[in-house]
Amino acid sequence: MRIDHLGIAVASIDESLAFYRDALGLEVEGRETVAEQGVNVCMLPVGPSRVELLEPLGPDTPVGKFLSKRGPGIHHICYRVDDIHEALVRLKAAGARLIDESPRVGAGGHLVAFVHPNSSGGVLVEISQEPGPEHSAHPSQGDNS
Ligand code: ZN
Repeated sequence: MRIDHLGIAVASIDESLAFYRDALGLEVEGRETVAEQGVNVCMLPVGPSRVELLEPLGPDTPVGKFLSKRGPGIHHICYRVDDIHEALVRLKAAGARLIDESPRVGAGGHLVAFVHPNSSGGVLVEISQEPGPEHSAHPSQGDNS
């Protein structure tokens, strides 16, 4: 396991890049809209990990509610696992409160699931698995299913 990324809730990705890109010197790896989660996402690699800037699409989205309740700041920590299904079974057996009982597709086509902050010292936890061939958000041309 390793830290895949730190999710940081911001009001504006463009404004935040003045710090993370221009002042701190990180490079933007990619930007995308994850409509299902109501966010614009901007990934900035830091070694093998990344900073994930999260800008809400509206006030009624999860990140929008987080911003109005707590202001900008660390939104979640994402741990990379080899097998997200196995990780969810283990978490559930240990009594962790799962937000997602089964994985869904997140930014970059990764399979992700969230664990409630009540179970993890007050920090929202995301677990993530590299997209497999059958889960890729960018289907290969050879897909003849
Ligand atoms: Zn994330």
